Amino acid sequence: MAVQTETTNKFSNYINGDWVVSDTNEVITRTNPANTEDVVGQVQKSSKEDLDKAVAAAKAAKKGWKNLSGAERGQYLYKAADILESRLEEVAECMTREMGKTLPEAKGETARGVAILRYYAGEGMRKVGDVIPSSDSEALMFTTRAPLGVVGVITPWNFPVAIPIWKTAPALVYGNTVVLKPATEAAVTCAKVFECFEEAGLPNGVVNMVTGPGSVIGQGIAEHPDINGITFTGSNTVGKNIGQTALKRGAKYQLEMGGKNPVIVAADADLDLAVEATISGGLRSTGQKCTATSRVIVQSDVYDEFREKLVAKVKEIQVGDGLQDGVWMGPSASESQLNTVLSYIEKGKEEGKLLVGGERLTGAEYDKGYFVAPTVFDEIATDATIAQEEIFGPVLALMKVDDLEEAIELANDVEYGLSASIFTTNIQKMLSFINDMDAGLVRINAESAGVELQAPFGGMKQSSSHSREQGEAAKEFFTSIKTVFVK
Ligand code: NAP
Repeated sequence: MAVQTETTNKFSNYINGDWVVSDTNEVITRTNPANTEDVVGQVQKSSKEDLDKAVAAAKAAKKGWKNLSGAERGQYLYKAADILESRLEEVAECMTREMGKTLPEAKGETARGVAILRYYAGEGMRKVGDVIPSSDSEALMFTTRAPLGVVGVITPWNFPVAIPIWKTAPALVYGNTVVLKPATEAAVTCAKVFECFEEAGLPNGVVNMVTGPGSVIGQGIAEHPDINGITFTGSNTVGKNIGQTALKRGAKYQLEMGGKNPVIVAADADLDLAVEATISGGLRSTGQKCTATSRVIVQSDVYDEFREKLVAKVKEIQVGDGLQDGVWMGPSASESQLNTVLSYIEKGKEEGKLLVGGERLTGAEYDKGYFVAPTVFDEIATDATIAQEEIFGPVLALMKVDDLEEAIELANDVEYGLSASIFTTNIQKMLSFINDMDAGLVRINAESAGVELQAPFGGMKQSSSHSREQGEAAKEFFTSIKTVFVK
């Protein structure tokens, strides 16, 4: 087990099958965003030298791991899934304490992590190539797939279990070894996933975790000559820099980044459904999802009625410590996240009309944490800052349009293209939306923030490097095709 001292949740780096203290002898202490007096745990503040050790271990483990069959590799993932499942309550509670999402959501995410592990365990037994007829009647031609080698995984804090797993599990099952750097603001929770990998008995060096500052460990992964592929999820600024660095040295890279996701509410929509989905898609997890709804584009015929219903429901939202029963929305994940959200709220007050929320929450229940009220703005123009920039907080911007054409034009009028929803009962409107919406996830009568693990996931425009994660699509990134000709 990873515990280094008598206090729980003190994690070293996981390198070559062992828990190793950083040479820096420095640690990062993690506290609860709902109550900063609650210390959740500690991780290493690692150096480039720690990363080098992890990469060396992953490189040494490459050949042995690649030469196992996919089915054998899958068996380790089945074991890790069982172990994570047996620790679901504990891991979920840690997640809630470390980054603030409510306990039911944290449990849901951990269960999702278990399901992803099982999905990719099964992938180990599925086909990896095709036979292609050769024009030479005496030859056999087919494709097979080779792993990339060592894969560097860099993850954000908003899904501290699911995202590390949905990158690491396919990397492993297709024969790569992994060095993962979790987001600092969720590193304790992610370390628990690595305890599951350890207990599952993965060979030494196959999975490694190094914690520490993004500018040191993340940048180090991007630059490392022995890392053959990099998969990143996080902000656009960081992602683009990683992409450029990887490109320069010929490493394969995959970037999943921000969103500014719209919901369109057509005049013929089921308004109650649209309200419910807008709130769930926009404000659950305190709006800290890349697929969160942030722009709500409503046809003028139903605008007033929709707005009234939305505001009434937002006022009912119970904000608080996500460990407590009945709490629907937790705090912002960190002080810097809170400050970012509050500054966008101030901007929103200049750019539109505040309907509800618009402030940091205060009082005995809130003073030790980073709580912000769920917020809705009205009369927001498409070129407003809060209609263009990703806020990553519980803020919705309402926009009025006359018809569907204008709605889709506005929906597309941002640099992002991750997820988009429409609420309508009209099949023609659904088809126009599917056809004209520039987004990687296009959802009809469903909130913008839903994702199923067996389907491709990723964005268009500035939201992504245009590869896809999850499901079968993950194989495209984590392997290279080899065309084989035998005579
Ligand atoms: P972030 O600040 O970009 O951090 C993401 C990861 O990159 C963290 O592990 C971070 O480490 C690391 N990092 C920071 N600076 C780095 C550098 N110079 N070089 C290499 N790595 C570096 O993003 P975040 O705040 O954690 O996450 C929120 C963002 O992620 C939002 O924009 C959201 O939309 C996006 N997101 C996208 C998806 C998707 O699938 N499209 C899913 C979830 C989230 P530290 O934590 O140590 O700084």
